[in-house]
Amino acid sequence: MTKKKLCPLCNRRSPNRSCPARGDEICARCCGMSRASLECGTSCIYYKPAIAGKEVNETLPIFKVLKSKTEGSYIITVARERTDGKLQYITVLIDAWKMGLKDSYGNHNITKQDFQRKVITKLGGANMLTEISLSEALWSIEYGLRIAKEVKTRIPREFEEYKYILGNMDSIKVEGSLYKCFKCGKGELSGNDVEIIKEVTRHDTAAGVCGTPDETMIYFVCDECR
Ligand SMILES: [Zn+2]
Ligand SMILES: [Zn+2]
Ligand SMILES: [Zn+2]
Repeated sequence: MTKKKLCPLCNRRSPNRSCPARGDEICARCCGMSRASLECGTSCIYYKPAIAGKEVNETLPIFKVLKSKTEGSYIITVARERTDGKLQYITVLIDAWKMGLKDSYGNHNITKQDFQRKVITKLGGANMLTEISLSEALWSIEYGLRIAKEVKTRIPREFEEYKYILGNMDSIKVEGSLYKCFKCGKGELSGNDVEIIKEVTRHDTAAGVCGTPDETMIYFVCDECR
């Protein structure tokens, strides 16, 4: 009887995957565990699906952090560069004056070209966007989440799916009044002002007019901006 061939990496299991990086057959378990370190390229049929999916790693370099030049409702996009040179990004829509974080979408794996051509164009083009720091973006997103929680805006499923791209947000703290100054975006509003905004938000949400031309127009500013 011939001796059964064993996986050259673990010497235990039977090798049933041909690995182009090793030029040999290895077992499924060793393939799964050593894929990144074996430098499996796109020629490896087992590695390809892994890089086509998402790469969860908050130390991936930031490619762009953008904010729309709009007041009240604004869009924030955070894009990171993956190890394969492609991008992952998350976009969130924040209604800073009423509903908080209310929409989100993203992509785990998109080429830089498609990001420029499709995503940036969809956001109105580079002229409509400002580059901001990651910490500023995370502060705004946390601000939007805090409002959404308070006024019961449903957090979109897509936000849960793509928020890993933002990285750890535990250190981001938003304190003070729930809503901030409508002009400078940072100044505190009085408890009375916040109650009025919440009341208007409840009314507009129930009427389904938030974000439409029919919504109630309000504008509250901090003491500094008055
Ligand atoms: Zn093995
Ligand atoms: Zn491989
Ligand atoms: Zn202000």
